[in-house]
Formats: sequence, C-alpha cells, structure tokens
Amino acid sequence: MRKKFIAGNWKMNLTKAAAVELAAGLAAKIGTPSVDVAVCPPSVYLDAVVGALAGSAIQVGGQNCYHEPKGAFTGELSAAMLLDIGCKYVILGHSERRHILKETNADIQKKVVAALAAGLTPILCVGELLSEREAGQTAAVVHDQFDGSLAGISAEQVQQVVIAYEPVWAIGTGKVATPEQAEEVHANLRAHIAAKLGQATADVVRIQYGGSVTAENAATLLHQPNIDGALVGGASLKVESFLGIVAGA
Ligand code: PGA
Repeated sequence: MRKKFIAGNWKMNLTKAAAVELAAGLAAKIGTPSVDVAVCPPSVYLDAVVGALAGSAIQVGGQNCYHEPKGAFTGELSAAMLLDIGCKYVILGHSERRHILKETNADIQKKVVAALAAGLTPILCVGELLSEREAGQTAAVVHDQFDGSLAGISAEQVQQVVIAYEPVWAIGTGKVATPEQAEEVHANLRAHIAAKLGQATADVVRIQYGGSVTAENAATLLHQPNIDGALVGGASLKVESFLGIVAGA
C-alpha cells in the first residue's frame, strides 16, 4: 500500500513574514494526518519555515538544487545544503524549470543522482504540453522524461523517488485534468515502470498528480487507484485550501 503524499509548491511567492504565517497556520491545524505532507518554500525562506513547522507533521522540501556537492557555482545551492537546513524533499524537473529555464533530462538526471546521494527524496516532475497531448504524444513524452531523468539509476533507488505527473496545460490554468485523464497517464506510467524496472518497483513508486488541484477537486483525483497524492501550487498558498486537499486524501 502506497502512503499518499500531498506537497505544496510555493514557487516564487510570499514574503518571509507571509511564509512564516502560512507555515505556522498549517502547523497549528495539521494534527496527525494519515498521509505524508510537505511544503516547498522559496529557498531563502526555508530556514524560517523549518522553524515554524518544528514539531509538526509537515516536512519541508526545496524547489530545486544543483548537481555539484559544493564549490564555485555562484547562485546555486546543493542537495547537502537543503538537507542541512532541514529539508527531506527536493522538487526536480518542474515544468517551469524544464520550459522556462531550459533544463534538460540530462541536467535533471544529474540532480536526481545528487539528491539521492545526499539523502533527499526527489520529487521528479514529468508532464506533456497541450500541443503534445493533442498530437497523441502524452505517453511518449512522459516515458521519455521518466527514462531520461532517471537514466542509470537503479530500481532500488527509483523506489525512493516520488514522481509528480503534471500536465503543463493544467498548471496554474484552472484546467485540472479529469480524474480519468490523470488516472490513464498514471496507470500507463506505472506499467512503463513495471516493464522497465520490475513490478515490485512499480508497486511502491508514488505518483502524485499536479495541475490546478484544489480542495474541491482533490478527493476524486486522489481516489483513483494510481494517483498517490498531489503536488499543489496555487492552492498550497492558503491554509484552508491546502488542508482541504490533505483532508481529501
Ligand atoms: P498549480 O501548480 O497547482 O498552481 O496548478 C502545480 C505545480 O506547478 O506544481
């Protein structure tokens, strides 16, 4: 049985005060959830958010890291630094980084290796553009991103990776995938993992859905057999909506 996992991706939003207020509000109300819960604040607020969440059931993740462990890489931060500051997770290969910042599968693969080596759990994002879906390429794109971003990584290590299926056309648009659309891709990806890495690995890898998840639509998505959680952008910026999604799981 895969434990469901709800993660909030705060992206490049909030002030320090607002981030701490949000974290403190979540900590006060989260209680003891039956699912895993994490938030991923902007890196400059990680320390403050880790402090505000101390003693709560909510874990913290970074939104990105660099693949080198340390050194002359101005502006970057390492997986070990995220771990050091109190992170358990790191989002890698988000579509905004793939498409705006032009990260390739090869770039992302190196980051996944670095994150695993440091002891972080990567949340690896995959997902097709609208044009790719309309051209019938969804499965091929998702397989290519999965294969490329995890190239050379053992089945045992892949079992420690969380996958987030995020159709790009659903991110921040309010156009959530239907539960059937999402489940079709999740089931297809799980079958792909089974074929490539074995059924035991496919059975344990958690696949979150992301893209316009709200407290209103979360429950039906999260009750699909192959949807193991959600990666939430906009709706993770308010205590009530994020906790509504956690409750829906
Ligand atoms: P959204 O973003 O929930 O605002 O659509 C999801 C994501 O990009 O992770």
